Amino acid sequence: MHRLSCVAFLLAACAATPALAADVYVAPTGSDTNPGTLAKPFASLTRAQTAVQPGDTVWIRGGTYVLQEKDIARKQGIFAYVHDLSKSGQKGKPIKYFAYNDEHPLFDLSAIKPALRIDAFYVSGSWLHFKGLEVTGVQVTLTGHTQSICFANDGSNNIYERLSMHDGQAIGIYSIRGGDNLFLNCDAYRNWDHTSEGGRGGNVDGFGCHPTAGSTGNVFRGCRAWFNSDDGYDCINSHEAVTFDHCWSFYNGFNDKFESLGDGNGFKGGGYGATAPDRIPNPVPRHVIQFCLAVRNKANGFYSNHHTGGSDWINNTAFNNPIDFNMLCRLPDNKTDIDGIGHKLRNNLAYKGKTLLARYAPGKNDESHDSFLMDLQITDKDFLSVDEKELILPRKPNGDLPDIAFMHLAPGSKLIDAGVDAGFPFHGKAPDLGCFEH
Ligand code: CA
Ligand code: CA
Repeated sequence: MHRLSCVAFLLAACAATPALAADVYVAPTGSDTNPGTLAKPFASLTRAQTAVQPGDTVWIRGGTYVLQEKDIARKQGIFAYVHDLSKSGQKGKPIKYFAYNDEHPLFDLSAIKPALRIDAFYVSGSWLHFKGLEVTGVQVTLTGHTQSICFANDGSNNIYERLSMHDGQAIGIYSIRGGDNLFLNCDAYRNWDHTSEGGRGGNVDGFGCHPTAGSTGNVFRGCRAWFNSDDGYDCINSHEAVTFDHCWSFYNGFNDKFESLGDGNGFKGGGYGATAPDRIPNPVPRHVIQFCLAVRNKANGFYSNHHTGGSDWINNTAFNNPIDFNMLCRLPDNKTDIDGIGHKLRNNLAYKGKTLLARYAPGKNDESHDSFLMDLQITDKDFLSVDEKELILPRKPNGDLPDIAFMHLAPGSKLIDAGVDAGFPFHGKAPDLGCFEH
């Protein structure tokens, strides 16, 4: 074969063969002038992003990434995007940003203090998968109305998995635009904006999801939120329904000395603040809060927050909140508060709240088998444990929530099989009450 046609043949063969997914590496000791290999890794995710294509993986080595203001990828308007992840994967070929093996990459942003809102990771790309990253020290530098964010999502079909966001002044995860995102097994804790608007931290939720019209299918599963200065989970101003499934929320609205800070709801399920009634979505989305646990939050465990419609509350457990379940609704004028109507409630369990159920309109909800409307004398003996300390045990190696005894039903408890089939798997004759099936 003539040499030239040989080259042409090889090029053609190359083009016809699907490219193998590539791996690139990032390490605290790396350099962005390196080739990004395991032996010679990049230093930054910003550099790694330029090297990857759909289907590729960025492996992030353990250790601390101490970020500086020179590392800010982009400043625009009032925002500083420290990481600006706009490159998308594709369906079936996500771009993955994964901790390498069992290593622990920690991103420390405490030195980044521009006079701007800080997004530690601004994600506008879609079909991305993040796993095993830890973010700490995100600052708020402005004293007026503002907020900083660890992971800000404006993409779709993204997976945020085993992320830990703590000890900063920023919201853990904040999702506005984009649908079909899964927030899986993430922890947000001890986040308190003590700088802006008087230092009560009224904007810092563990997890905020406030989807725009069309941004459907966002799910939080297996996440934990504690000691965040505002709420654990908040979906105020949502134009589409959000699902919270098997999530825990405790000690929100407090700092770790239990000093009072922001709103302090475990799950703030909806509402529209001061939005004009003609700008509220029609129909109003029904949020889904199921198999969740709310413990000793400052205000309410499960809170409907003046929502202008009902939501679905299935098999949740509330323990020791001032109000365990607060079903407060509002008329469509978004002005007139009313006792909750239109909710679906099944198999919920409330114990030791100062008030178990508030702002609930009897006969105007689809309700069945909820402890607070049943004739049950619940005592500590109904549970294997009432020790809250178990809530902050380390996660399992695969990222799942830890196995605990807290709020699990004791053998012989009258709460076992006391529920009604709500369309989920159960053991025994019937579902149990609460979030942990015996
Ligand atoms: Ca909030
Ligand atoms: Ca059962």
